[in-house]
Amino acid sequence: MKVYRARHGGFCFGVKRAIRLALEAVRKVKPIYSLGPLIHNRLAVEELKKKGIITVNSIRAIKNKRVIIRSHGINPEVLEQLRKKDFEIVDATCPRVRRAQRFVERLINEGYYVVIIGEEDHPEIKGLLGYAQGRGVIFNEQLRIRHRRIGVVPQTTLDVDHFNYAISRILPNATEVKIYNTICHETVLRIKEAKKLARRCDVMIVVGGKNSANTTRLYEVCKRYKPSYHIESAEEISGEWFKDAESVGITAGASTPKIQVDQVVKRLKLLSV
Ligand code: SF4
Repeated sequence: MKVYRARHGGFCFGVKRAIRLALEAVRKVKPIYSLGPLIHNRLAVEELKKKGIITVNSIRAIKNKRVIIRSHGINPEVLEQLRKKDFEIVDATCPRVRRAQRFVERLINEGYYVVIIGEEDHPEIKGLLGYAQGRGVIFNEQLRIRHRRIGVVPQTTLDVDHFNYAISRILPNATEVKIYNTICHETVLRIKEAKKLARRCDVMIVVGGKNSANTTRLYEVCKRYKPSYHIESAEEISGEWFKDAESVGITAGASTPKIQVDQVVKRLKLLSV
């Protein structure tokens, strides 16, 4: 069985940067607290904890007033609370997410009603919605928007097909629509390559956290083409999956450490001899 690995899989620029900033911060003083997991990967978060980067779910749980903001960004009200309470803040918001936040601010200042396209529960979306200051909404199928001027901002990890679909639903509801395309090219590359691999291979393996939105999206894309499996670690692989397969493709989300992908490749190579 041939094993093909996507060239663009694993940590993206924003995740690498967030981890680098967190490690630099704990080198000075330990620990530092992350409001929510620094990256959406359970195994990586456990490793970071050993190094002094601790995940908490509320400001109250932060014991030393040192906090890192994840690559997904944060709601501006929460940021303001941290500032008022004199926290030492390491801002690891990905510059591309920051750009999307600025676009939401700009649209609001220009008088648009903002529609954000993305996952309701995702921290990036919660943050973006905060910048809309109550004059925005998250797109969903049932949404009936009646505003003359609508501004649109997508989640950085959104699938382009879903973006196009959402736009086609928004357009008839306004006389003016201003769209910022904030989909990150790292996402575009990963999805494009995953599609290509899935067309070529008999089985697809997608490596990454089950709580990672972009990994789940890669899995959804792959399974449109071929039998696909979303796994967090190499131990989950079953030989049964490859009974009649001559080739397997491997891709990984933007929050998957390289070592986890290496272990999967190693396991599959062992299975194929
Ligand atoms: S996917 Fe793109 S926007 Fe999102 S964190 Fe990574 S580099 Fe930043």
